[in-house]
This record gives sequence, C-alpha cells and structure tokens, in this order.
Amino acid sequence: MTEHRKLYIETYGCQMNVNDTEVIFSILARHGYARTESMDEADVIMANTCSVRDNAEQRIWGRLEVFNQQRLTRPDVVIGILGCMAERLKDKLLETRKVDIVAGPDAYRRLPEMLAAVRPDSPQIDVALSRDETYADISPVRIDRNGVSAFISIMRGCNNVCSYCVVPYTRGVERSRDPRTIVREACEVFSQGYKEVTLLGQNVDSYCWKEEGQADVSFADLLERVAAISPELRVRFATSNPQDISDAVLETMARHENICKHIHLPVQSGSNRILEKMRRRYTREWYLERVARIRELMPDCGLTTDVIAGFCSETEEDHRQTLSLFEEVGFDTAFMFQYSERPGTIAARKYPDDVDPATKTRRLNEIIALQNRKSLESYRADIGKRFKVLVEGPSKKNPDELCGRASNNKMCVFPQRPTLVGGSSGCGEREGTLRGMLPATGTVTDPLKPGDYVEVEVTGCTSATLLAKLV
Ligand code: SAM
Ligand code: SF4
Repeated sequence: MTEHRKLYIETYGCQMNVNDTEVIFSILARHGYARTESMDEADVIMANTCSVRDNAEQRIWGRLEVFNQQRLTRPDVVIGILGCMAERLKDKLLETRKVDIVAGPDAYRRLPEMLAAVRPDSPQIDVALSRDETYADISPVRIDRNGVSAFISIMRGCNNVCSYCVVPYTRGVERSRDPRTIVREACEVFSQGYKEVTLLGQNVDSYCWKEEGQADVSFADLLERVAAISPELRVRFATSNPQDISDAVLETMARHENICKHIHLPVQSGSNRILEKMRRRYTREWYLERVARIRELMPDCGLTTDVIAGFCSETEEDHRQTLSLFEEVGFDTAFMFQYSERPGTIAARKYPDDVDPATKTRRLNEIIALQNRKSLESYRADIGKRFKVLVEGPSKKNPDELCGRASNNKMCVFPQRPTLVGGSSGCGEREGTLRGMLPATGTVTDPLKPGDYVEVEVTGCTSATLLAKLV
C-alpha cells in the first residue's frame, strides 16, 4: 500500500526539468504520494537530474551520497535518479547499489508501478525514450513559491544534434504537444490566479502540431492562441533558436502587449568556423540580422543569450569574434559556460577537446567581464523609463520592498505602495498605517501583492536589477 508516502524531489538543470518535476508530483499524487520539502521525513528521495555539463553530473553523485546517509537510520527509504543523468548513466548508477529507481524523461508515468515493485535487491529501471510522450493530459502540481508564474512545456526532445550537446541523446526526438491541451493548461493556471506562463521547449520555434484535415499549428499560431486567453495573462517562452526564429513569431510578439518583449537567443559562439563545427545552422551574419529584425519590430525587446568558451579547436581569433559579437549586440545578460565534453556527442566522437582548461577559464572570464560591462550599460539605459511590472513578492535583499519583472525580463525592485494616499489623518500616524480609518482627504488603497500589475519608473540600477519608484 503506497498511501500517504512522503516524496522529496531535488531538481537540477533547466526550467524544463522544473516542469518535469511538477509532472512527476502530479503523477505520484494520484497514487498517494504527498510532497515534502524535508528529506528527513521522506519515504522516497529523488533527484531530477541534468547532464548538460560534467559539473552538473558531479553534483548529483555528491547528492547520492547524502541521500544514502538517510539509509543509515531508515533502511527502507527509496532513492531514485530521474531525468537526463538516469538516461545517460543507467547501468553505472545501478552498479553503485545506491539507487532503487532509475527513470529517464519519458518514463515518469511508470513511476507508481516502479515504486511499488522496488525491493531491497530489485532496483527498477526504465530509460526507454518515446516518440510521442508529451504528458499532455497531466496537470502539473506547481512547485513555484510565488503563485504568479507557471511553466508549461509545449514540446519535448530535440532534433537538432548540435555537436557539443547531450540533450538529443537524453531527451529523445522532438515532439510537439497538442495545442488544445496547452491552451487548456494556461487557462487552468490563469483561473488559479497565475498571471504569467512561460512556454518551454528546447527549440520553441520548431513547434508544429499536425493533424489530418487541419492546417498545421506553428509556434506563432500557438503564441497567438495563448495570448488571446486574457490581456491580464503574460506570455513568455524559451528557448528560441537563431536558425528558426521567424518573422511570424516576431510579428505576433509585436502585436500582443501581453507577449513579453524578451527573447533568449543562444548564440554559442561569434565565430562562423566554430558555429559550423558546433553544427549550429546559422552564421554570425544571420544571427546579427535576426537581432536587427527583433530590434526593428520591438525596439525595447530584452535580449539574452548562452555562450560556450573553449569549444574544440577554438583559436584566439575565434574567441575575439565571440567578444566582438557580444560587444556589438549588447545582451542584457548571458549564461556563459566553458565547454564540457559530453561522452557520446558528435564533438566527443570527432573532435579533440584541445583547448586547455586554463585557456577555457581565461576566455570565459574575458566574456564574463565584457558581459558585466554590457549588462550595466543595458540596465543603465532603462533609467528614467516607465515599465509595467508584474509583482512577484518581497525583494530577496530587502523584504520591505517588492520585486517583479518588466516585460523585457529585467527584475525591478520598488517600494510597497502606501496604503493611505493623498491625505493626512491629522492624528500623527504615518502614511500607510491607517487601514480602516478613512480621513476626509485621503484614499485607502490595498497594499500591492504578488500577481498585481504596477507601473514603475526606473531611478537607478545594478548590472542585474532595476531600482524603481511607483508612479
Ligand atoms: N536548446 C537550447 C539551445 O539550443 O540553445 C539550450 C539547451 S542547453 C540545455 C543550455 C545551454 O547549455 C546551451 O545553450 C549551451 O550554451 C550550454 N551547453 C550545452 N552543452 C554544453 C556543453 N557540452 N558544454 C558547455 N555548455 C553546454
Ligand atoms: Fe542541444 Fe542544440 Fe537541441 Fe539546444 S538545439 S538542446 S543546444 S542539440
């Protein structure tokens, strides 16, 4: 009997993994598993893992040791490794005898069955990849804390096979999800009070739903449908691929105020020679043209990127090309990585990992230094501008202030709204303390709460936050 067993899951890696964890909680909730945030009280301890870089995997090996310490006092505790690392290292994980469950990204529906079958010397494994699993019918149990912003996976897998990337091997072929189930899920979260959905896929621009006798539904069509749910529901998406991002998508974004003006457009390198070797199917010139088009259609659009330093055979000249592209584009922020060889990828099979670690680190540091300067420039350029911000909750650094994102995805920090506006009580209390006592000249307003929209004016910044006042 599995009733009321407590389930603890740690999630590593991308937003898609966070959403997968939500799907897993939903599947297991139906079988009597209740979520806990404390490993110490959990009957089942799992990690939903990432294999994109070696250090992500090293971290999981470390966590596996920590999970196993629980067995010293509670030998019945069940331990599972889920997701990309389960897919990639199946046998190696089982050999450790430290895991009971190894489940790949397409095996989550079988988790209840696998959990029921676990015995001390009978670990359960399912790493089969599917051509059609999208978990479309499952309403994920939201694990975010703010109740404002929800992730919705619109597709799974990837057909691109960039030479450095393990994702196609761990998450399988690309599958798009029925748009009706996506719209239904977005409506559901909106009716629960969420004000923002982020549509997720490894390459959202290649989203395509085909159905006999019907016109194909493209990503631009899907965006249009989700945006139409309500002007009060913001729509974001990630990740776009420079080779596929179309004018139709950009025009749809430009047309709808509630589709946020932010594009995460990973460039990976500024050198055409390296891009070709990475099997990215665009050139530097193509990338710059897409950026120009984005800015032509949406001059205030936020732009962020991913980059890899020290890919196989990268020369100083290739690296300078990356620096010059960063200089030219001026991203708001970037996720910057050193190349990490992943076994089984095309690069691992064909190209020596020949940029020495010190050079990789130095190049990465040069990109980071340049990007920090460009981030500050980009954030400073917003001083004096007004933005509509979706309140997420108290600011992390100062709980007396609030934070929320502008459409361009920049985080804004601003004060709470005074709850008494425009009058004095005449009895010495400070503004904001008089809920329920309406003076003749003042108006009582509600304090801002997560999910409210508010207009702010930017008065200052750091390289990662806009500091603002209410207007
Ligand atoms: N699908 C997205 C795309 O095409 O850009 C991103 C997928 S990947 C999970 C996220 C980022 O990890 C990539 O954009 C890339 O910069 C980085 N990455 C992937 N493989 C890597 C590797 N072997 N070494 C270092 N960084 C890597
Ligand atoms: Fe990996 Fe390339 Fe697919 Fe992104 S598009 S997941 S980098 S193979």
